[in-house]
Amino acid sequence: MAGDAGSSASIAAPKTQRFPLVTGRSSDHIAGMTEPLSVTCEIQSGGKWVPLGINDAVKEGEVRMRCPECCGAVRPNRDAVNGMSAHFEHELGHSGCSLSHAYHGVRSRHPKPLT
Ligand SMILES: [Zn+2]
Repeated sequence: MAGDAGSSASIAAPKTQRFPLVTGRSSDHIAGMTEPLSVTCEIQSGGKWVPLGINDAVKEGEVRMRCPECCGAVRPNRDAVNGMSAHFEHELGHSGCSLSHAYHGVRSRHPKPLT
């Protein structure tokens, strides 16, 4: 019996750090039709900005429309592109808006917001 001083502490690493968030492959099927594109804008009505859906916006024509997230100007695009349905496009794409294709992951206000 030698060297059995601290025998109670064997190599028992805490088991809290396995692979988190890998819970199966449930999300594999849903990918394919992600839709980050905007289908809502805001228009000025009675001195304030009110939301307007894409289906109504395509009939509006000349009103100024802005992105509800970054406040940059948008315009409705009724033509389907790549199978996408109608949506709003930023007139000036903005990398800080998750509704713009230029989005790079960090949100910020549009440099030329409509107010
Ligand atoms: Zn935006």
